[in-house]
Amino acid sequence: MAHHQMSTVAVSAGRPTEPGQPLNEGIVPASNFVLGGDRAYARDDGTPTWTAFESIAGALEGAEAVAFSSGMAAIAAVFNLLPTGARIVWPDDCYQGVAGLIADGERSGRWTSTRLAVDDTDAWCEHAGIADLVWVESPSNPLLSVADLVRISAAPRSATAILAVDNTLAGPFAQLPLDLGFDISVQAATKHLGGHSDLLCGVATTRRPELAARLRHLREIHGATPGTLETFLAARGARTYVLRAAAAAQTAQQLAERLATHRAVSLVRYPGLPSHPTHHIAAQQLRSFGTIITFDVIGDAATADTVCHSLRLIHHATSFGAVESTIERRAAIPGQEHLPATLLRLSVGIEDLEDLWSDLDEALNAAVAAGS
Ligand SMILES: *Cc1c(COP(=O)(O)O)cnc(C)c1O
Repeated sequence: MAHHQMSTVAVSAGRPTEPGQPLNEGIVPASNFVLGGDRAYARDDGTPTWTAFESIAGALEGAEAVAFSSGMAAIAAVFNLLPTGARIVWPDDCYQGVAGLIADGERSGRWTSTRLAVDDTDAWCEHAGIADLVWVESPSNPLLSVADLVRISAAPRSATAILAVDNTLAGPFAQLPLDLGFDISVQAATKHLGGHSDLLCGVATTRRPELAARLRHLREIHGATPGTLETFLAARGARTYVLRAAAAAQTAQQLAERLATHRAVSLVRYPGLPSHPTHHIAAQQLRSFGTIITFDVIGDAATADTVCHSLRLIHHATSFGAVESTIERRAAIPGQEHLPATLLRLSVGIEDLEDLWSDLDEALNAAVAAGS
């Protein structure tokens, strides 16, 4: 088949082809199938709905995809590939759920781990030689530091090493970790692929058939199966994913540039700004600088909270990757107290740029006025 661009792949993959079938695989609520065909029981063999979603998610990354009940379920499956006593190396800035998972396994003696600065490429390369799992999150959440995935994957690695990326923040439009030499790319389809804040779903993609088979086996024995309705919605979301991601990234770049000159803002972190500490890696490695911006408000936690509460269009809510823009003060979340108290994470949606800017500008000015 012709090689198509990602926007085309997102629309064309995972569709029924037999005459008379609907263009979209339907919602097939099933646990049990008539024996003798290729499906017997849904936890083992899937439903047609989640298989269709896996076809789309896999096609986006040119790989085999295994869908899970959530992003964390996909991540836990990757960690469950490890033998007891495994050595894990992971970033000093990352999704808090992963930090909890690693701490839990460490407490129970399942593995040991070392944290590295996202941008300390030499250290990552060195650890690839001794680790069983190199777990990278890039750009990292919420500080948006970019790891040099090309150099890390090219480093000499131990015989048992699995190199995996949490690609949730970037999404496949912005970054294709498997093309950069990694073994597994994981994403919460809850975020960009779903794109509408109405489902939980995760997906792991790999080009190594033995890893895909083991991940599928882990899903089966742990029962971490995706919901049929959720995968229908995720497939629906994925059809417009590339358009949404491109539009939101364009708006994010504009907003980041404007925020950087706002009198109420002390620091903007966005990989697309030349001032960003890892902009040079981002510019080489990312296909898009993404849709997430973090910035520090001048003042204190109360000032930053005033911004969140003064916004009228942008929703005060966690998570990211949806059509609607959301913002939150990350240090207010239990476990995230180490972050700057005034750090806000903005997820840019597909609303109009000027409408979003007016909302931000007014809220920032209101916070300055309240503080003076
Ligand atoms: C949201 C998120 C996850 C977990 O996804 P869930 O679907 O909520 O389990 C993992 N990693 C990152 C970076 C995330 O943002």
